[in-house]
Amino acid sequence: HNYTKDDIRQMVKEENVSFLRLMFTDLFGTIKNVEVPITQLEKLLNNKMMFDGSSIDGFVRIEESDMYLYPDLSTWMVFPWSSERGKIARVICEVYTTDHKPFEGDPRNNLIRVLKDMKAAGFKDFNIGPEPEFFLFKMDENGQPTTQLNDQGSYFDMAPMDLGENCRREIVMTLEEMGFDVEAAHHEVAPGQHEIDFKYEDALAAADNIQTFKLVVKTVARKYGLYATFMPKPLSGINGSGMHLNMSLFDDNGNVFYDENGEMQLSDVAYHFLGGLLKHARAYTALCNPIVNSYKRLVPGYEAPVYVAWSGSNRSPLIRIPSARGNSTRIELRSVDPAANPYLAISAVLEAGLDGLKNKLEPVESVDRNIYSMGETERKQNHIENLPDTLHNALKDLVKDDVMKAAIGERLCQSFVEAKNLEYDSYRTQVSEWERDQYLDKY
Ligand code: ADP
Ligand code: GLU
Ligand code: MG
Ligand code: MG
Repeated sequence: HNYTKDDIRQMVKEENVSFLRLMFTDLFGTIKNVEVPITQLEKLLNNKMMFDGSSIDGFVRIEESDMYLYPDLSTWMVFPWSSERGKIARVICEVYTTDHKPFEGDPRNNLIRVLKDMKAAGFKDFNIGPEPEFFLFKMDENGQPTTQLNDQGSYFDMAPMDLGENCRREIVMTLEEMGFDVEAAHHEVAPGQHEIDFKYEDALAAADNIQTFKLVVKTVARKYGLYATFMPKPLSGINGSGMHLNMSLFDDNGNVFYDENGEMQLSDVAYHFLGGLLKHARAYTALCNPIVNSYKRLVPGYEAPVYVAWSGSNRSPLIRIPSARGNSTRIELRSVDPAANPYLAISAVLEAGLDGLKNKLEPVESVDRNIYSMGETERKQNHIENLPDTLHNALKDLVKDDVMKAAIGERLCQSFVEAKNLEYDSYRTQVSEWERDQYLDKY
C-alpha cells in the first residue's frame, strides 16, 4: 500500500489507534520495537522520532548512539488484537543517523541498497516466496516452553481437532486479517511441526512479511498455551525446520527466468542466476544458516540439503527448480532456515545471482538422483561440493568471498563475523550431555 501521511491520520481516527509500535530488525534477525502513544504521531510522520541505538545488537557504540526512525508508511498495519485502551498499529522503520543518512548497520537499509543494484541492472522486482516451518511445543504452568510436542501428526495429516490444528487455523486467519495472502497451511513431516506458505512479494515486502509472520505465529500460539519456535533443529532424530526461498526476477514484461524456447523452458538469465547461486553457496551459508544449531539440520536424511547441487525434480539438492512455468518460473533455495535474518539472507542471494548474470556464470550439470545415496567418490566425479558443516567453517567461507562480503556491506559483515565467532566459541568450549554420556564411565 502506498499510504500518504493523510491516509495514516485518517486510519488512526477511524480505527481508534492509541499506540504505535515502531519496528526494526537487529543484526541477529530479532525484531525490536519501541512503543509510543498516538500523541507522537506527527513527530513520527515528520521523521523526528529519535531513539538510543547503543544497546541494540550490532548497532552502534555509546558515543554515537542517537539514531532516528523514519517510518516506511507502506508497512502500516493495525494489529487485529487490541488492548482495552484502543488498538495498536505498527510501522516498520528505517534507521537513520543524526546527519540524516541511512544507517549502514541496519540490515533492512542494506537490502534497500542491494535492490538499487538490481534496478541498475535493468530489473524491476526480485520476488521471494518463503516457506517457513516451525514447531509447536507445550508450555509449562509458568508459561515457559518445554520440549514436549503437542501432537504426533505427520505430513499433511488431518489430526482430530487438536490444539495444533485450531491454533494453526487461527494463525492463518490472523495473517489474512493483516493482509497476508496465505496460499497453504499444513502439518509438516515431524510431529508438532507446521508450515504456512504465503504469496510471494518483492524482496523488501517479503522480508518484512517474514518478520511479521514470526511475530504473529508466536503471539497466537501463546493464546493456545503453546510455544512456537523457529529454531532450525529443536530435536535430534526428526526433521528440522527450514525456510525455503522461492525466487524469481521480473522486469517490466514479467518473469525473466521463463523462456518458452530455452532448455527446460528456462532463460539464459535463469541459468546465469543459478550459476551465481551455486558459486557463492558456501559463502552465503553463514547468512542463511546463522546459528550453531542451523548445522544440526543440514545433515543427510531429513529433507534438508547437504550438498551444493541443483535439480529439476529431486528434493535432496540445495536448489530445486519447481515445475511451474510462465510467471511462476522460480528457483527454490532449500538451505535457508528461519533463524536467518531475512534482510541479510535475501541481500546475499540476490547479489550472488546478479554476480552470475554479470559474469555469465554457467551452472554445473543438474543432478536428478538422490544425492544422499551417492558415495563420496561418486560425488567428487560429479563435482558436488558439501555445504559447510559448522558455523565456524561457514564463517571461514564467508570472509573468503568478496562478493558476499560486499552484499551485506563492510560494517554489517564485520559485526556479524565478530559476533558469530564469539557465539561459536562459546558453544565450542561447553561440555555437553552427549560427551558425559559417551565418556564419563569409559575413561
Ligand atoms: P513446495 O513445492 O516446495 O512445497 P510451495 O508450492 O509450497 O512449494 O511454495 C510455493 C511458494 O513459491 C509460495 O510462497 C509462492 O508464492 C511462491 N512463488 C510462486 N511463484 C513465484 C515466483 N514467480 N517467484 C517467487 N516465488 C514464487
Ligand atoms: N523440513 C525440511 C527442511 O528441513 C523440508 C521439508 C520440505 O520439503 O518441505 O528443510
Ligand atoms: Mg515444507
Ligand atoms: Mg519447498
